[in-house]
Amino acid sequence: MLLAVLAFLLAAGFKRGRIALAAAHLGFTGYLLHAAAAKGVDAPDAYVLFTLTSLIIPLLHGWLLIQRDTSPLCRRGVVKLILTLTPSAILLGMWLIPGQLGGWIPDLHPSLLETLGEDSLLNRACAWISAPVLALSLLLTLTRRTTDEVALFGSLLAQILAISTLKQTHLSTQLLILAPTLLIVAVISHIYAMAFVDSLTGVPARRALEHKLAGLGRQYGIAMLDIDHFKKFNDTYGHDVGDQVLRMVAAQLRKVQAGGTLFRYGGEEFTIVFSGRREEEVVEALDEVRQRVEQYPMRVRAPQRPRSNRQGKQARQRGGQDTEQVSVTISIGIAWRDADERPEMVVKRADKALYKAKGAGRNRVMTDGPDPRRQRRRAVA
Ligand code: GH3
Ligand code: MG
Ligand code: MG
Repeated sequence: MLLAVLAFLLAAGFKRGRIALAAAHLGFTGYLLHAAAAKGVDAPDAYVLFTLTSLIIPLLHGWLLIQRDTSPLCRRGVVKLILTLTPSAILLGMWLIPGQLGGWIPDLHPSLLETLGEDSLLNRACAWISAPVLALSLLLTLTRRTTDEVALFGSLLAQILAISTLKQTHLSTQLLILAPTLLIVAVISHIYAMAFVDSLTGVPARRALEHKLAGLGRQYGIAMLDIDHFKKFNDTYGHDVGDQVLRMVAAQLRKVQAGGTLFRYGGEEFTIVFSGRREEEVVEALDEVRQRVEQYPMRVRAPQRPRSNRQGKQARQRGGQDTEQVSVTISIGIAWRDADERPEMVVKRADKALYKAKGAGRNRVMTDGPDPRRQRRRAVA
């Protein structure tokens, strides 16, 4: 219960709408299950409470799976929260009035009682409802591949297992603790991603680079990469196309060999860190990604929009002429760590090498160092 409150507060604070709803739902129904188990499900009241709760759990979970992530603090979020909690709140209210829930059971015909008893129709109904909801949750997990989805699936599974093991109090309690814990993990992993992953390109962000630099060994190289004439892309085609170019470049740079780890340094600049590799191997790998970016057939929306609708229609009839292919290039500077050098210094020297690569005509890899044999120039094709 406490864990569910914590999961709800965290999720609400970080605007994870569905996780917050799931946490509230979990907290309430978890309490109801616990109350039923504490009294012993053989008591009529507790039996009805248990059965109805085990029907509500998959039903509402299925409903919130298909909701959008609205902030739990806005009006729509509050309405959803109320809708989510109403069934369990009604149950709780009835539970608190003695005899209200199960008072009618002893009056039932024995054969009907038999049907309602253990391994009964109602238990099977719970399984029938749970199975498609679990399947939907699994499907969403596999297609969306987000931690939210995994946590929602896991927490539902934990609750269903808790229902079916209610008589093994210890195991069931553990499962009821696991369910909100999974939701908390999902929110924490979201907070982690906000801090360490760049949302535009999906590659590790500057903060992740700082951590990486702090934990490097003795032998490493740092490459600084910068898109050539990127401002021109933004000015000519607009910011959206600029973002599209950034995503394409990041996707190509991810493929770097020689064990390089990619980070977005900021703006249109990236950093790749190589540790424990030979210099030639690294320069080779960098030149390969440079060529990959250069050769990527990038199609973007043409800058001049048709002047009238008719012209636009004609252009489309000619076969989608309103896109054009552009060539993107990057310049790369690399520096190797000298004895006793701090990572920030190596970054600075890599930046210097990058500056040299820009000065020498862009679209090339250059190594920082006074020795001219270490310079590796690549002519623009
Ligand atoms: P150079 O070849 O010398 O590197 O020229 P450049 O135009 O790439 O260099 P400059 O530093 O002058 O321009 C960088 C531009 O990158 C400025 C800014 O508008 C753009 N930019 C930075 N971050 C983003 C982003 O996240 N999205 C988009 N679309 N543009 C960005
Ligand atoms: Mg720049
Ligand atoms: Mg640039």
